[in-house]
Amino acid sequence: MAKLDSLEPVIVETVEGGIPIEQLGTTLMHEHVFVLSSEIQENNPQLWDEEAQIDSAVTRLTAAAERGVRTIVDLTVLGQGRYLPRIKKVAARVPLNIVVATGVYTYNDEPMYFAFRGPGRVFEGPDPMVELFVRDITEGIGDTGVKAAVLKCATETEDLPEGVERVLRATAQAHRVTGAPIQTHSNALVRNGLLQQKVFEEEGVDLSRVVIGHSGDTDDLGYLRELLDAGSFLGMDRFGMEFIAPVEQRVKTVAELVHAGYAEQLVLSHDCPCYLDYLTPDQRELVAPSWHYTHIHDDVLPALRHADVSDDAIHTMLVDNPRRFFSANAPY
Ligand SMILES: [Zn+2]
Repeated sequence: MAKLDSLEPVIVETVEGGIPIEQLGTTLMHEHVFVLSSEIQENNPQLWDEEAQIDSAVTRLTAAAERGVRTIVDLTVLGQGRYLPRIKKVAARVPLNIVVATGVYTYNDEPMYFAFRGPGRVFEGPDPMVELFVRDITEGIGDTGVKAAVLKCATETEDLPEGVERVLRATAQAHRVTGAPIQTHSNALVRNGLLQQKVFEEEGVDLSRVVIGHSGDTDDLGYLRELLDAGSFLGMDRFGMEFIAPVEQRVKTVAELVHAGYAEQLVLSHDCPCYLDYLTPDQRELVAPSWHYTHIHDDVLPALRHADVSDDAIHTMLVDNPRRFFSANAPY
């Protein structure tokens, strides 16, 4: 929603440049185009057919666009093989917007690149991680001309390893400097979204500008309400990852939260990559046959309607909430 006291339209950065926020439309908030272990592909080109995978990504994303999806948020960051020149080739050929992220994805340590530099490190000083995130958002990623519009970080374990805590704090600081909102990867099964909120709160982050991602992996409503009542959005964003939680459970959890009045804090997505090298295509088909960009429109929305979730609430989760998330973009 545009600020009433400003005539400036809110612009959201995408791979193809800034767009007025009204053009986001139906938005899948946590997806991936490619998740790769870049060093593996660089050293083993026989393991990766780049042109074929770009074609496949175009086909997969076009199918989502045909269902009415206007925007996907590609939360692939450092540690997941982010490479913008490749994403630009895909974006130029698909009829939807691709929003990209900056951040570091790690469950354990910070990347060695940062290990000796920054606060509390051998070469004490401003955190180069923060500087890099800010540059990605304000100037663009490398020389691609593409600006990141969102920050992403991850916690996987019950505790908070030192390197991961650094990434969370760097994310929070870059958020406050730039105003770009935050989305996370959390492990709902160990309830560590609460840990993320605690660190963000210590860094002075407005928790309403954060999506605690992968919250739909659990049906622990007490935990989910605690996160919601602290003000954050929840990412019900792994539809299709049946090996973690089945679609029936995911739908039931969303419906219960909508009926409890939380529709304005929920976003829907698949966390789906066009290609991820953690699995072979056969393995992926085996563990997650419905894990593709059309699952929400083809299967989940009908199931939600069957569970008495209104079209209004669906519009709120797919259109209004992403727009509200990206419209709060002022530094503070
Ligand atoms: Zn993800």
